[in-house]
Amino acid sequence: MSKYLEELDLEASAPLEEPMRQRYFMAKCGEIIRKKEMALGRKLTFYDQTFGCQMNFKDSEKLNGILEEIGYVKAESENADFVYYNTCTVRENANVRVYGRLGTLKNYKKHNPEMVIAMCGCMMQEAEEEEKVRKDFRFVDIVFGTHNIFKLAELLYQYLTSKERVFDVWEKTDQIIEDLPSDRKIRFKAGVNIMFGCNNFCTYCIVPYVRGRERSRKPEDIVAEVEKLAAEGVVEIMLLGQNVNSYGKNLEKPVSFARLLRQVEQVEGIERIRFMTSHPKDLSDELIEVMAASKKICRHIHLPVQSGSSTLLKKMNRRYTKESYLELVDKIRKAMPDISITTDIIVGFPGETEEDLLDTIDVVRKARYDSAFTFLYSKRSGTPAAKMPDQVPDQVAHERFDRLLKVVNEVARSQNSRLAGRTEPVLAEEVNERDPSLITGRLANNNVVHFKADPSVIGTIVPVVLEEAKGFYYLGRIADA
Ligand code: SAM
Ligand code: SF4
Repeated sequence: MSKYLEELDLEASAPLEEPMRQRYFMAKCGEIIRKKEMALGRKLTFYDQTFGCQMNFKDSEKLNGILEEIGYVKAESENADFVYYNTCTVRENANVRVYGRLGTLKNYKKHNPEMVIAMCGCMMQEAEEEEKVRKDFRFVDIVFGTHNIFKLAELLYQYLTSKERVFDVWEKTDQIIEDLPSDRKIRFKAGVNIMFGCNNFCTYCIVPYVRGRERSRKPEDIVAEVEKLAAEGVVEIMLLGQNVNSYGKNLEKPVSFARLLRQVEQVEGIERIRFMTSHPKDLSDELIEVMAASKKICRHIHLPVQSGSSTLLKKMNRRYTKESYLELVDKIRKAMPDISITTDIIVGFPGETEEDLLDTIDVVRKARYDSAFTFLYSKRSGTPAAKMPDQVPDQVAHERFDRLLKVVNEVARSQNSRLAGRTEPVLAEEVNERDPSLITGRLANNNVVHFKADPSVIGTIVPVVLEEAKGFYYLGRIADA
């Protein structure tokens, strides 16, 4: 039997059930990698380049976990034996950046015949991008999408045994594969997926097309993961979903997001719970009640408004109005006066007028955001907004963007100084990059504070006096015992 047929035979004997099937391929890839290590007299390395949102970073942790299980060790640069790009396509410039960087990998590959290059993530879910990689980037060996990241070991095995390029992009899935390895970057903080995909179809957004329909994980699987993380020393978790407020609706036994939070709160060792993202249309009174009563759920809510104009919100298919959004903000602030609210705003959506921008500026002032991610509208082909008339000229959009940013910064400055003089619990996160005598940490409301302390406090929650408000951060000192 030829080597290739032998390998195909092996593939046929792989378990069909997940995650056993992937465990099997991890072991098989491991055998191949160990042989290569012996021949080369060194460890094989991997490197990831991740673009985009928290979902992508979370996916990369899973991919890195699989690669480590196989036997690869993390490299410091792209000059590695396995390099993958986990791509984003929410805005057009993300795509341009990816192709710009990809070229450098070709040179590394020339000098390292062992090098395997993979591309995955949202961009690869778009047929024309997949085709572009197939035709114009022939040095890319493995391509997969957002729905089958769990399959990395199997795809790698297929490539290593056939040496033929592997393209495996799924249009959709209803599978959620639990119990695969994951490699976390920070030992005391972790993201936890509670759901995948999105059903909202905001007219500018490509996410539902590249991440598929909403699928929630079972609460017992989520709680089990949180318990495991707590046992590993994690004190802060971030529950992740495109619209956490619609969590649990499609489960066999539906569970609300607020009820999930109550269960997660019971996990001993977890001291802080964050979540993102909350769609304003689905934020319930039950959630506000649970947050207000909780000692662990952080006083921060990311509540993307996108626009302050009810006319544009309708065209965006956001399903709330300027008035109902502001009412919601009031309700949240009444229940939790010290909460910090942050947002996302798009400038230059088709048909946007000067009045629409003024409405957005009005909402920024009234909602008193602690910070806002402001984006220039980017036309994504396949979305309804791409075909809308009255696309806003670049120059006009840029000018409006600058005006909006000024107001956002002015409001954020004043919001970020309101806690000055108070003593607040702070999660010490890292040594300050500019001044190594300082530790940088975060308050429960996500504001940043720098304070003098020994690096041994990193990963713990310490009381810090917020001595001085500097606009976008505080300077503080550890409170006397
Ligand atoms: N699911 C979240 C929500 O609804 O708020 C956000 C997901 S999206 C990855 C993050 C942000 O990207 C959005 O809130 C929106 O402001 C921005 N965004 C999405 N599509 C965009 C587009 N075509 N142009 C500019 N910004 C966009
Ligand atoms: Fe995109 Fe809207 Fe879904 Fe957020 S809720 S991911 S903006 S479609």
